[in-house]
Amino acid sequence: MTLKSKEQYIESIGKMKTEAYMLGKRIPDVTKNGFTRLALEGIGQIYDLSRDERNAEMLTRGEGSGRFNVYCSIHRSREDLVNRVRVARLVCQNTGVCTGSRCCGWDALNALWHTTFEMDSRLGTDYHKRLAKYATMVQGKDLACAGALTDPKGNRALKPRQQPDKDVYLRVVEEDRKGIVVRGAKSMIGGAVGSHEIIVQPGTGFSEDERDHAVAFAVPLNSEGVVQVVNAQPGGEAKLKDSFDKGNVRFGSSEALVIFNDVFVPKERVFMCGENDYAAEVVSRFVLLHRMVLGGCLAGCGDVLTGAAALLAEYNGLSRQMQDRLTEMTYLSEALYAQAIGAAYEGKASPSGAWFPDQLLANVTKTSVTRLPYEVQRLAEDIGGGMISAMPSELDLKSPKIGPLVEKYYRGTHGVTAEKKLRVAKLVESMVAGPGRLGALCLHGGGSPAAAQMTIRQLSELESKKELARKLAGIEH
Ligand SMILES: Cc1cc2nc3c(=O)[nH]c(=O)nc-3n(C[C@H](O)[C@H](O)[C@H](O)COP(=O)(O)OP(=O)(O)OC[C@H]3O[C@@H](n4cnc5c(N)ncnc54)[C@H](O)[C@@H]3O)c2cc1C
Repeated sequence: MTLKSKEQYIESIGKMKTEAYMLGKRIPDVTKNGFTRLALEGIGQIYDLSRDERNAEMLTRGEGSGRFNVYCSIHRSREDLVNRVRVARLVCQNTGVCTGSRCCGWDALNALWHTTFEMDSRLGTDYHKRLAKYATMVQGKDLACAGALTDPKGNRALKPRQQPDKDVYLRVVEEDRKGIVVRGAKSMIGGAVGSHEIIVQPGTGFSEDERDHAVAFAVPLNSEGVVQVVNAQPGGEAKLKDSFDKGNVRFGSSEALVIFNDVFVPKERVFMCGENDYAAEVVSRFVLLHRMVLGGCLAGCGDVLTGAAALLAEYNGLSRQMQDRLTEMTYLSEALYAQAIGAAYEGKASPSGAWFPDQLLANVTKTSVTRLPYEVQRLAEDIGGGMISAMPSELDLKSPKIGPLVEKYYRGTHGVTAEKKLRVAKLVESMVAGPGRLGALCLHGGGSPAAAQMTIRQLSELESKKELARKLAGIEH
């Protein structure tokens, strides 16, 4: 069995000595920096949950010595897709944060599983064999893989070939018998700093004269030429300190601009190189999974926020008065979950054997994900009162001079200390406006809201719906 513990995982990431920068300086050790450590703890929690026998059915695949983490698996059935949504909810309930990379790497493996199979069947390439070997390696070593699609894209109104700087879409700059050299970057890559590997896919469809950009591959994040710039999240500086002001005191998330400065990729790790007709296929399969999974993620984070709001209501002596609003929060999270489960349940197998969710329902889920969690946030802030946006810090509470006064005026009902109340309020603050805010996850994760809307429009089948209405209204064609 290859299931790393959280400690083994964190140690293995530390040993990689990746070239990562934050706030203008190189991070000497990503396992020690307060900000990145929390992100590693979040991903690390997946490792620990997976070793817990109670979660074995949900979080592992394979038998005996061949058992591996579900995050490195290919979805082989409808049940696997449904499980995927359940896993997302479980992990978000336990961490309260986005633990991308592992989920994006999971999506990338599945999207490429399908696309490389299609390419090999039609073009006679051997990408699928390479990918299968790579997947076995990742499973065997229990590696965390980031999944990278998003190019910096420059001027969005221009096509990749029209960009003044071609590197704003990652591309192949050299190719020989041994492999390729790639240049460019991928933006906002979830959990890159806590990942062993990065699986890179094309970010959009490309025309014949944009073939250089149609590339998919995987490299370790400490490969020569790979540089990460870890994003500064709003309120992220609180995470650098050992203080409950950070809100979520146990876990965090991170994203990074991952730059590829002429990085060599050996041939066996290249899964697409110039097949521009297949680039859009990888993107659509990746986002299909991601748009479904987000329903599970946001339901799980919504559960945490609902619990925090219920505690604040209790501490303020308002449990009874807040029942309707808390019920509404539960409804909103369950609605997201139900949509994601529906998208999974209506999924289908692709010829590669990998299963994918129903396209329309996955995009409906994503659209709800761009709206409903904002209402969950609003209700949590409403229940918590103004203190969610205006409260003293831990330093004030611990100050010998003003601490007792903060205690006196922030104390809750029935002997609840000011510290308890502030801790919960700061958790809410971080999830609505701080580094763990739900909005970061839900609006653009898996593509912009407009992209999901466009797919819904394409799949609306208005003509057949008009026909239904005509029949019932007794109208002839
Ligand atoms: C917290 C977080 C984690 C993320 N993690 C990952 C990750 O792990 N891997 C990854 O690959 N990506 C990741 N992303 C990136 C995410 O997938 C993108 O943000 C998303 O696809 C939108 O792309 P964009 O940010 O470039 O915005 P854009 O695509 O530029 O969208 C901005 C706005 O412009 C509109 N727009 C764009 N182009 C046009 C056009 N031509 N005409 C008209 N309107 C247009 C859009 O509809 C939208 O309203 C993450 C993002 C976030 C916020």
